[in-house]
Amino acid sequence: MAHYQLSQKYPHSEFLQIQITFKNTQKSSPLSIRLPAWRPGRYQLGNFSKNIRNFKVIDTDGKPLNYIKKSRDNWHITSSEEIVIVNYEYYTAEIDGGSTYLDEEQWYINFINCLMYAENQLDEPCEVQLLVSDENIIACGLPSKGKILYAKNFYQLVDSPAIISKEIKHLQYVLNNITFHLWFKGDVQLATQEERIIEDFKSFTAEQLKMMGDFENESYHFLYQIPDTKAYHGVEHLNSTCIVLGPAKEFNTEAFYDNFLGISSHELFHYWNIIRIRPKEMVPYDFTKENYFTTGYVAEGVTTYYGDLFLIRSGVKDLNWYQNELNKLFKRHFENNGRFNYSVADSSLDLWIDGYEPGTPDRKVSIYVKGAIIALLLDMLIIKETNAKKSLDDVLRTLWSDFYKKGKGYSAADYLNVAETVIEHDLEGYKKDYIEGTAPVENILTQL
Ligand SMILES: [Zn+2]
Repeated sequence: MAHYQLSQKYPHSEFLQIQITFKNTQKSSPLSIRLPAWRPGRYQLGNFSKNIRNFKVIDTDGKPLNYIKKSRDNWHITSSEEIVIVNYEYYTAEIDGGSTYLDEEQWYINFINCLMYAENQLDEPCEVQLLVSDENIIACGLPSKGKILYAKNFYQLVDSPAIISKEIKHLQYVLNNITFHLWFKGDVQLATQEERIIEDFKSFTAEQLKMMGDFENESYHFLYQIPDTKAYHGVEHLNSTCIVLGPAKEFNTEAFYDNFLGISSHELFHYWNIIRIRPKEMVPYDFTKENYFTTGYVAEGVTTYYGDLFLIRSGVKDLNWYQNELNKLFKRHFENNGRFNYSVADSSLDLWIDGYEPGTPDRKVSIYVKGAIIALLLDMLIIKETNAKKSLDDVLRTLWSDFYKKGKGYSAADYLNVAETVIEHDLEGYKKDYIEGTAPVENILTQL
């Protein structure tokens, strides 16, 4: 078991103090420890090790042990000791959906970017001891006892972010015996909105549970950071999501509320689509390097499509609102001349290069935008050709039962095969034109 102890030297410090106790199981060869090179949800290298200061390795008596740094985020420790202790400080000045951020009011921790692992112990249980005072509330998807969090392995640990603070606003609702928690860190007044939030969240959650028919956890946690500045960023996790949405002063406006619903519905659907129904290239995650995959149009495109769709299916929003959202989506697509130059499959592969920046003008498309449009197209094709007996819902449910439930990831070909089985004919044209090609989507969409 790896034991992690986290502390902050003084309340204003921007450094998280980390001490990790590793078993040194193979004394004949060096113990290889690593910091993840990227974080699931953002498919680009993170270079998190730039935030590390004062890296030291000692034995249980405090005697320094030898190590060498092998690469960007890999250290080799040579020792005959049973136990080695790694100490370092992690710099935490940035706040976004996937960062680790400390100030005098909170610890916001995405373990993926700040905790190291021993390469031969990824599947071993982990525990995280939080050295914070007793008044602190811990908002996290992991089981805990007092101020210790428990994970069955490193994968679970790093896919379970936490907010730790004396003041966190909290709402909750229960559906199908699952408790859904909403945790808010920031200057927001919930009072006037509480009932509406619960009612709307219950509605779209019920719709998602009904469609997928299966949920594997007893609880789910929406972790919101509501900063004073403008922000819009969400990241999906095992049984939680981190959402950064601002500015706080607009929290009670309708536009903010719509964004709040939209991003929350999107992130919740990731519980199924990508966290569990996952591209095979990322089963399991390889934290040491890029995990290239071409199916971003499923992971993010289909999720973007459904995130909004659930809001009208559940009656939380109306058709006018939905048409407006679709118009925004098309506008973003048609304003990008990259649609003539690069396919959505290639754009997915290239997430690792420039997926999260505008990049070279008109070079690529968005897996979110074009992905959602071709998900709509596929859904319409299936509904039309099966006389509404089937829909894209059936494709998602089959991916759940035939891939995730069987411990497998899916490939681009698997996704297409499942869709072909549902629609009962081949989809070679759809694949060539819209997934692997740059054919204009408007021609076929206007015919449907
Ligand atoms: Zn997403």
